[in-house]
Amino acid sequence: MDLKKFSITAARKKASLTAFLDKLDTIVPHDMPELVKKVDATVWRDINCMECANCCKTMTPTFTKKDVKRIAEHLDMTPKDFTAKWLIKEEDGTDMVNKIQPCQFLVNNMCSIYEVRPADCAEFPHHNKKPFDIYNDTFKNNLIHCPATLTLVDRLKKVVEKEYEW
Ligand code: SF4
Ligand code: SF4
Repeated sequence: MDLKKFSITAARKKASLTAFLDKLDTIVPHDMPELVKKVDATVWRDINCMECANCCKTMTPTFTKKDVKRIAEHLDMTPKDFTAKWLIKEEDGTDMVNKIQPCQFLVNNMCSIYEVRPADCAEFPHHNKKPFDIYNDTFKNNLIHCPATLTLVDRLKKVVEKEYEW
């Protein structure tokens, strides 16, 4: 995965794909769930997370109390020590997030706590959330971080603009 190239492409396409997602806030194709599922399947034929890990390098997951307890236990730490060592409270909220980026658990481009990783990581990039358009703001934010999301929204835009009343 050429992340430099991805960055340039994402910067170039961000405005038009954001406008598409904005429009999707008000106009939702009737068969959106099937459409997203179909297009998303094509995305994962072309994108391999193992060659990317850009989310782990440039973003932070949120850690729930359950996540902290599970991961701390796995690392033989107390939740209190784990939190003090790695986490801070998000500036504008109550979520706990990583102090540093890339994520401290990213080792050789792989997650070293994969089996016990935060639920947020396990669900990322949230393409199968339903309804899809409720997460438009998340996808807008992720366009410049996640090649899979950029590809999904780009392909969705092409299909919707070509085949639907739009
Ligand atoms: S916990 Fe693992 S999957 Fe989550 S950001 Fe860190 S390295 Fe990535
Ligand atoms: S979810 Fe997106 S950013 Fe994360 S590794 Fe996969 S393609 Fe890359």
